[in-house]
Amino acid sequence: MLGNVYRLQSGGTRLLIVCDADQRRSIPDIFPSAPADELVAAIRAEGVDPLSAPFSQNILCIQAGDNTILVDTGLGAPASHLPEHLRAEGIAPESVNHVIITHGHGDHVGGIADAEGALTFPNARYYCWKSEWDYNMEQVPQLDAAHPLRRSLPRIEERVRLLDAESEFLPGIRALAAPGHSIGHMALRITLGELDLLHIVDAAHIPAQVAHPEWSPRFDYQPDQAAQTRTALFRQAEVDDLLVLAYHFPWPGLGHVYREGSALRWQPLLD
Ligand SMILES: [Zn+2]
Repeated sequence: MLGNVYRLQSGGTRLLIVCDADQRRSIPDIFPSAPADELVAAIRAEGVDPLSAPFSQNILCIQAGDNTILVDTGLGAPASHLPEHLRAEGIAPESVNHVIITHGHGDHVGGIADAEGALTFPNARYYCWKSEWDYNMEQVPQLDAAHPLRRSLPRIEERVRLLDAESEFLPGIRALAAPGHSIGHMALRITLGELDLLHIVDAAHIPAQVAHPEWSPRFDYQPDQAAQTRTALFRQAEVDDLLVLAYHFPWPGLGHVYREGSALRWQPLLD
């Protein structure tokens, strides 16, 4: 059983990493184009069963000043544990005033609205990269009524701010273009007090991709672009010695990147 809420404090800023859902996945199924023997050996070397590896949904919540900021919304009901974990931490869904949508995949937008279309975070403003928003909104009319994009994106159309340049769009939170996994996938650099955090979101899905950024999962929309983005983000993490957060790495998905010979490696914060 994975844990559920990891807490970090930096000056007056409180950060939580909530495990929205604790899943297990077969890594060879996710990476059909990676060399199978090498992939399985790399996962086993981490002490993990390659056919049942932890695959978390790590949702970052930041409380700074008057702001309560969520990065993505998880799977949505019935699989999602995000709302109950937030309540247990004293955070009512109504108090969330900013929601950052890193990209339009179901495990990131599924918690925006319920099956009836009611917003889970009714008082929030939303943020999304413009090309990602435009691409997904074009798909919406063709989608089934129950599809997470169809039941969520039109509901927040009046509340979304679209980003098309790397910028600090909320205090201490900078949007980074990180395309490849999806057309307008967004990473974040979060600099608050002593904290300097790089949230790579879905630029990588498993820790073994730190040493093998050329391995792309079947979820990557443009695998070559995704590999370039992944390489650049890990390099930045190494050079600037950043704390890294990855959405799907084993909860809480935090760690550091370090160099061993010619390859980079992943050192989880919690072992
Ligand atoms: Zn994704």
